[in-house]
This record gives sequence, C-alpha cells and structure tokens, in this order.
Amino acid sequence: MFSTLVRGGLRRHSPAIARCLFSSSASLAAAEVKKLGVVGAGQMGLGIALVAAQKAEIPVTLIDNSQESLDKGLKFAEKLLDKDVAKERLTREAATAVRDRLKPSLKLEDLSDVDFVIEAVPEIPDLKTSIFSQIAQIAPKHAILATNTSSISITKIAAATTNDPKDLQAPSRVISTHFMNPVPVQKGVEIITGLQTSQETIDTAIAFVQRMGKIPARSADSPGFLANRILMPYINEAIICLETGVGSREDIDSIMKHGTNVPMGPLTLADFIGLDTCLAIMNVLHQETGDSKYRPAGLLKKMVDAGWLGKKSGKGFYEY
Ligand code: NAD
Repeated sequence: MFSTLVRGGLRRHSPAIARCLFSSSASLAAAEVKKLGVVGAGQMGLGIALVAAQKAEIPVTLIDNSQESLDKGLKFAEKLLDKDVAKERLTREAATAVRDRLKPSLKLEDLSDVDFVIEAVPEIPDLKTSIFSQIAQIAPKHAILATNTSSISITKIAAATTNDPKDLQAPSRVISTHFMNPVPVQKGVEIITGLQTSQETIDTAIAFVQRMGKIPARSADSPGFLANRILMPYINEAIICLETGVGSREDIDSIMKHGTNVPMGPLTLADFIGLDTCLAIMNVLHQETGDSKYRPAGLLKKMVDAGWLGKKSGKGFYEY
C-alpha cells in the first residue's frame, strides 16, 4: 500500500516529454534485475554494492581502475559484515553469502551481463561522460544505466551514451539513483531523470532502490538536484564562518549539532563527504547557475589543493 502510494506520487512528477517520447520501449521490471554492476569502489560504490548484495540478494560486479581501491573496499565490506555478525544482525552464513556475491574486477567489459549499472566514480564531468559512452556499448541493450552523481546534469550524461541525437534508445535508459552517505545507513535516494529518460527506466529504478530497502524521492535535473542544492551551501557557509573567524571549528559544529538536532556538525559532515566532492558540487552549482551565492569558500579550495580531503585522506577540518 505504502509503496503504491509512493509510486503514485512519484509518477505524478514524471516528465511529460519523456512519456510522449517513450510510450512503448522495452521495459525491465525491477524483479528482473538479476545482476548489478557498480563502477567505482570508493565509499559510495562500495556501499551501494554491499547493500544490493545484502538486501536485494543479487550478485554485483564491482569495477574500479585501481586494485588498491578494490582491495580496500572489499576489506571494508568484510569489516561491516563482521560487525553485523557480532551484533547478531546477520548470521555468519548470510554474511558469507553476501560477501560471495561481490565480484571485483578491473575491466568495464565485465559489465556485459548485468541488468542495472550504477556509476560512482569521482565527480568529474568528463570522466562520467567517458564511462557512460563506454558502458552503453558494453552493457546489454536492456540494462538501466544509473549515475550516483551529486550534481552533474543527467541529460548531459545521457547524451554521452550515443553519438546520434536521433538514437533515443541508450539515453532513455539513463537515470540518476543518488544514494546518500553512508549508504548502508541512509534511507533516502534521490531519483533524477534526464530529458531523455523513459518512464520504464524511472519505474525500474524506483522499484529497484525499494528492493534495496531505500526510500526514493524525485528531483528535477537541476544543478545540485534537491539534496545538495540545500546541503552544500550550508556546508560552504560553515567553512566561510571558520575562514572569517566567526567561530572555531568546534563551536560551528557544536551549535549546529546541538542546536538543530543533526547527528554531526557541517565541518565534520564535509570531512565525511570528502572536501574534493564538496568543492566539485559547489563548482557545478556556481557555474551552472551563474549565481554568486554559490561561490566556493576560498578555504575549501585551498584545503583541496593541499590534499586535505577529509576522512578519506586522514586530514580535513579534523585529523583521522
Ligand atoms: P571516492 O573517491 O571515494 O571513490 C571513487 C572511486 O572511483 C575510487 O575508488 C576510484 O579509484 C574509482 N575510479 C576513478 N576513476 C575510475 C575509472 N575510470 N574507472 C573505474 N573506477 C574509477 O568517491 P565517492 O565519495 O564514492 O563518490 C563517488 C560519486 O558519488 C561522486 O559522483 C560523488 O559526487 C557521489 N556522491 C558522493 C557522496 C559522498 O558523501 N561522498 C554522496 C553522494 C554522492
């Protein structure tokens, strides 16, 4: 009942243009998503792969161009599964089954048998479009091609899947499933459609993230979508407050944590997200809207230049 209501509500916001363009494309029901591919085994990709293997109980081909990232990611997945076993949230057998569903690979070609791909490489427009042009060739013609981008236009990413503007097939299968960090914990997933996205793709993506135990919310393809359009200027303003001496890092985090009942302050949150990701999103908001209110804080730029990217590099606003 609940999911019917959610789907009904979500459908009302679906783009009329896409409905007209794609009235009868081949659909792939979420139940038919039997194998997932994830590109990028960093903090988001690993989390997405793990949750799909655990909740949707399907095999996941996990691709990265760095063996070190794959090793690090899988070690982290094992650590999380061990923790679940220790807390009796999972049996040892179930944890082993989940781990066995994760198949690491260094080759995009291994996506040739998946039904759904989720890309989670760094927030660099040219890198994302290059990956999409390749996976559109490699993945089966029915596969949904999803991105986890935090801010880049889905319409632009979809356009990279074909050289022919009249060929609507591959772009119609592109969508964003924007998972939140940390993926095993956060329930919300933003579903963002490009101009080309078909209704079947939307339905399949919504049903699939629900199978993963997540709660979808729709957003238009607008810079930053909903979550980061609201969150990033808040984090950026906190950095400006630090930079201009309005408050110390502890006071900024303390007043927001204890004054607005969020689990952590904005500077700690920025360290968890990754300062490179925060800067990339602010740059997209600034460039795409041309609005000076989205100008990235000078200190944020300097910290990224210094390689102080937050928790993942061992130093950000705090030390790890
Ligand atoms: P990350 O830096 O932790 O991981 C990126 C991974 O991609 C790395 O393992 C890297 O080796 C790999 N990679 C780089 N180039 C590649 C290539 N050509 N082929 C295959 N793998 C490649 O980044 P992340 O924080 O996981 O972010 C990934 C995406 O998710 C970004 O688009 C980001 O904006 C988005 N996102 C991040 C967060 C967050 O809180 N970090 C939240 C929501 C969405």
